[in-house]
Amino acid sequence: MRSVKRRTSEILTAIPRDLQRRFSSSWLSSDVQLVDVNKSSHLISTRFESLDYDVAENELYTKEADQRDSDVYFRMRVSLARWFVMFLIGVLTALIAFAIDTGVANLSNLKFSIVSYFMDKAVDNGGLCVPLLIWVTFGAGMVLVASVLVAFLEPVAAGSGIPQIKCYLNGVKIPRVVRIQTLFCKAVGVMFSVAGGLAVGKEGPMIHSGAVVAAGISQGASKSFNWDFKLFEYFRHDNEKRDFVSGGAAAGVAAAFGSPVGGVLFSLEEGASFWNQALTWRVLFSAMVSGFTLNFALSWYHGHFGELSYTGLVNFGVFSGQPYNWYELPIFCIMGAFGGLLGALFNAINYRITIFRVKFVHRPIIKVLEAMVVAIVSCAMCFLLIYSSDLCSADDAILTAEDDSSVLQLFCNDGEFNVMSTLTFVTPETAVKCLFHAPLGSFNIPLLVLFSSIYYILACWTYGLSVPSGLFIPSLLIGAAWGRSVGIFLGHLFGVEVWVDCGKYALIGAAANLGGVVRMTISLTVILMEATGNVTFGLPLMLVLMTAKFVGDVFNEGIYDMHIHLMSVPILGWEAPHLAHQVKAVQVMNSPVKTLKPIEKVDVIYTLLNDPKSCHNGYPVVDEVTGQLRGLILRDHLLILMQRNIFREFADDGNHSQLRLRHLRDAYPRFPTISDIPTSILGQGFSIDLTSYMNPAPYIVSDQSSLTKIFTLFRALGLRHLCVMSNGNQVIGMVTRKDLARFKSKTHKSSTQIYELSYVRN
Ligand code: ATP
Ligand code: MG
Repeated sequence: MRSVKRRTSEILTAIPRDLQRRFSSSWLSSDVQLVDVNKSSHLISTRFESLDYDVAENELYTKEADQRDSDVYFRMRVSLARWFVMFLIGVLTALIAFAIDTGVANLSNLKFSIVSYFMDKAVDNGGLCVPLLIWVTFGAGMVLVASVLVAFLEPVAAGSGIPQIKCYLNGVKIPRVVRIQTLFCKAVGVMFSVAGGLAVGKEGPMIHSGAVVAAGISQGASKSFNWDFKLFEYFRHDNEKRDFVSGGAAAGVAAAFGSPVGGVLFSLEEGASFWNQALTWRVLFSAMVSGFTLNFALSWYHGHFGELSYTGLVNFGVFSGQPYNWYELPIFCIMGAFGGLLGALFNAINYRITIFRVKFVHRPIIKVLEAMVVAIVSCAMCFLLIYSSDLCSADDAILTAEDDSSVLQLFCNDGEFNVMSTLTFVTPETAVKCLFHAPLGSFNIPLLVLFSSIYYILACWTYGLSVPSGLFIPSLLIGAAWGRSVGIFLGHLFGVEVWVDCGKYALIGAAANLGGVVRMTISLTVILMEATGNVTFGLPLMLVLMTAKFVGDVFNEGIYDMHIHLMSVPILGWEAPHLAHQVKAVQVMNSPVKTLKPIEKVDVIYTLLNDPKSCHNGYPVVDEVTGQLRGLILRDHLLILMQRNIFREFADDGNHSQLRLRHLRDAYPRFPTISDIPTSILGQGFSIDLTSYMNPAPYIVSDQSSLTKIFTLFRALGLRHLCVMSNGNQVIGMVTRKDLARFKSKTHKSSTQIYELSYVRN
């Protein structure tokens, strides 16, 4: 292993200039500079800052904590506020889901009714060009709205948002990800991209929407709009905000799939390091409220006020038949393995498409054009599939009553309809439901395989476009189609009496395909169980998802992780890399350390913060005489101290000379920058007493601590800084969360190596 001791500035400049290319991606703003994408997975971007989940227990904080802990009413108020915020998050997330759902339904109905009117007319007249043109124009027009919102207004609203929320819960700040503008573009955009006929779902974006709602409500303020309702000020800290974002993500899952427990598990699976019992309660509460509110609103909307029969945006219907036989389990596992293979191929193709996009599709206008091309091709393909299929049926049971308007008669006899249109002329959610519940004999193998292959290509091409788009439903749909054909095949092979329920195979195929693409296991098992309302499928679903993950992981990583790594986000894995125990703190840390004195000159602080070489986010405060560590002060707090002139020289000025927690909370999360500090405070001999504002007990490790130990500390406590101490108890180095994210291990021909990723400044 090569020596890992280095200086950040050296690494930054060591990246060859020619590696730095114009980079813009689906979820980064277009002015982002990144590296050659072929190498970008070997780099860590300095653009993404870390979140700080460690509470600085300084004098201000302890004073308030004393008051809170000794005053029962204060304590109750804060606790009630926490529950109330979770309640609001649930309600609002559900209302957004409701708006999206009804928006998609109305837009789709409008499109389908106009197209089917022209289609029926055209069949009589013999030419299908007009309906095709109308269909494509509708699709392209709607996708135009979605892509303009994303490409021009808020690039971070593209895609499902799940990778971004994963990063956030992991401790990485993705710029603009939890802003109101992002929520607006996401919610409106997803309505148009789904209704436009792209191979996308609205469920993934709901998770992102829930997270934005949570981040906004819990702060009782919007910095973008300069609103401050002076509400929930205690929650203005990364730590508290993260807890609410977990609640928001869970509420999003609950609204999307009618799966509150799946929502809790989703947040747990993605951010388990900070979990505790009280949080589980609140997150579950938020998810339950969200599920209930959506159910209530949708029941009312569909004319069944108070009945509560609409459990989520997507409703897979209840599997009523006989569950499964023990001898089917190996078949399910084989299907899981096949799903893993298909998922790995999907991710590999999407990786290449993403690289192409990174290289050639940067400008917003090109992104919009690309989205429109995909929309036109998607609509035309659906049309062609219907046109080329001659399978007709008169069996109404294929579709549920409320979806009947969406089928096409086309060239079928009166009273019959084109079966392919039940998959392509409806929203993807309805198509999944058809495949799960249509009676035996509704579809045949060639039709399903053709549909599944075309949809696979379309979904793969679509994910990563500049539109809000979820991947869950397209993946489920592809899997349900091939899964059902497996069921039909087995029926042919062993006799229909035994394998009568093809819907069951559609469900297993759907799970296998989705598991192969996203590689989530815990939450997905429960989400699918709750969405299908069938607990008996728990074990098969888990087996299938595990097999899919196991097989897929042999080839590549899950699609969300792949996109996270392509963006060079400094994300920490679940465990330290292999061989991390061989690396010691002294090799990881950055030294020499820039420190401050307990009473420090303003000029010194200003110069330190203003110099790119010494501008860090945290500085150890060290005793001038003994050299002992006294605490750690954050850059943001230093800036506020200087901005508010909290100088020792003004100490007699009463209240004005004191910094209050309120000041820090008011400034959170957008603290001033060094350019906001007037230079007039320099050269006047002012100094600041840092002792009241620093964290007097920062986390420390010995220089001989292993990387494994350091990693566990960072991961479990959500740290941002760690001071490395010498034998003589002096600070000799600093380790940040991002420093750790650079360590990876790889195994090649049975030998394992640990290596360091490089930084790229962008
Ligand atoms: P983030 O900015 O997300 O908190 P970072 O790793 O970029 O993470 P910075 O504070 O920007 O942290 O510092 C950049 C580098 O400088 C890191 O490698 C870190 O180890 C090192 N560093 C941080 N604080 C100090 C310090 N006070 N003295 C010397 N080096 C430091
Ligand atoms: Mg930094």
